[in-house]
Amino acid sequence: MFRRVLIANRGEIAVRIVRACRELSIETVAVYSAADEGALHTQIATRAMCIGPAKASESYLNMSALLTVALATQCDAVHPGYGFLSENPDFADLCAENGLVFIGPPGHVISRMGNKSAARALMRKSGVPVVPGSDGPVTSVKEAEEISQRIGFPVLIKASAGGGGRGMRQVDTLEQLPTLFAEAKAEAEACFGNGEVYVEKLIVNPRHIEFQILADAHGNVIHLGERDCSIQRKHQKLIEESPSRALTEDLRQRMGEAAVKAARAADYLGAGTIEFVLSSEGAFYFIEMNTRIQVEHPVTEFVTGLDLVHAQLRIAAGLPLSLTQEDIACSGHAIECRINAEDPHHDFRPSPGRTEFLHLPGGPGVRVDTALFAGWDLSPHYDSLAAKIIVHAPTRLEALRKLRRALEELMIAGYPNTADLCYLIAYEPDFMRGCYDTGYLDTHLEQLLQFGENCVSGGKEHA
Ligand code: ADP
Ligand code: ADP
Ligand code: MG
Repeated sequence: MFRRVLIANRGEIAVRIVRACRELSIETVAVYSAADEGALHTQIATRAMCIGPAKASESYLNMSALLTVALATQCDAVHPGYGFLSENPDFADLCAENGLVFIGPPGHVISRMGNKSAARALMRKSGVPVVPGSDGPVTSVKEAEEISQRIGFPVLIKASAGGGGRGMRQVDTLEQLPTLFAEAKAEAEACFGNGEVYVEKLIVNPRHIEFQILADAHGNVIHLGERDCSIQRKHQKLIEESPSRALTEDLRQRMGEAAVKAARAADYLGAGTIEFVLSSEGAFYFIEMNTRIQVEHPVTEFVTGLDLVHAQLRIAAGLPLSLTQEDIACSGHAIECRINAEDPHHDFRPSPGRTEFLHLPGGPGVRVDTALFAGWDLSPHYDSLAAKIIVHAPTRLEALRKLRRALEELMIAGYPNTADLCYLIAYEPDFMRGCYDTGYLDTHLEQLLQFGENCVSGGKEHA
């Protein structure tokens, strides 16, 4: 096992990784930008080093600064977390070239799956169903028009290097195509420095169902069941749960097998996620693989009882998986809510600020993953995730009740956030019945916010 790990990340995931390392008696070196001085991950790590100014491109994305620190502090491995350099093949290769174990797949595997258009091609070749669409990148409007007419509108134009819901445009008619094609390309160029796009058929109101994968260096690949991540805003997840109400045992088995096949085709190593969209008719299609730990991994940890960051560390150290597919037994129901510093009343615009007051929920079956503490300034430089509230109970109804009480206990003051919205969703009948798809927030948001407003103003009028 490793002696000392560099954590090339920040926020709650850096805290999560420190915790896992401590449990395995591994020392940690945290890094921080000027905006993160005093951040929780720097306080709980064995030691912490400043790597540059607030701007991510000059700190958390600065490969040479990270490598310099890792080598100077004699780390033997690097954990990239999610976001930042976690899916950057050059960084994975650079670590390896410098004698550092990158805790994730090798660079060529990240490249293979990280370009979404190339990953589609590999999946199709390997017999994993993909959404109908272009065979590879699409370079001209004319080409996009031909493909869209062949597969039929509506279509999605997606960035090959996309992530975080960016670089994606829905196109409903041929007339809209030239403008939206240019928009998607420009956004892809701006966000990812790569303007390559491809075309996919839009599956109308699907579920987002993803499977957690573990693959070791000895040829063992298993899946740890699914997460339903259909409650999304702007193509980004807000609430995730496992198991999904949408899967029958038969469908779960077929999708799980497809996910393992996908990971095998990629020659995968480590923890990863195969994302599918599931149509209302029960057809499922691969959309992408995330070659890293996922934000919503605690949901799977609750239902399987496994520790995914421990698993990442063990696999990276060359140890074989200690479990076979038959050993994986899921029990109970888990739900995660993302508490983002975003204003649901204003199109979820980021709203970072000082954490004036904080009380976190606890008690049986409640887990909170966060790097927040009272007084902490959430920086506008990084993503808006402030905390994750995860609950686990024997049944979905009990998990819902636990989620409600956890969100009642949560007190977070200082900036608008998504806690109240999650609370309202936990009482909303369609969500309660498990009847939802990725269009849920589009169709329910106004009514949910209105209901929330009525509760507040109703109280005031009678006061
Ligand atoms: P998950 O599927 O784990 O929920 P998200 O899409 O929410 O992942 O992304 C997790 C974090 O990683 C977010 O901060 C997001 O902005 C960032 N991220 C995801 N993909 C990319 C990418 N390709 N480039 C840069 N950042 C990314
Ligand atoms: P990212 O890399 O940004 O996570 P994804 O390809 O995973 O991008 O797509 C993000 C979300 O967009 C999905 O979770 C789903 O809600 C929606 N989406 C993506 N592809 C399709 C599709 N072909 N049809 C319908 N919805 C889609
Ligand atoms: Mg995705």
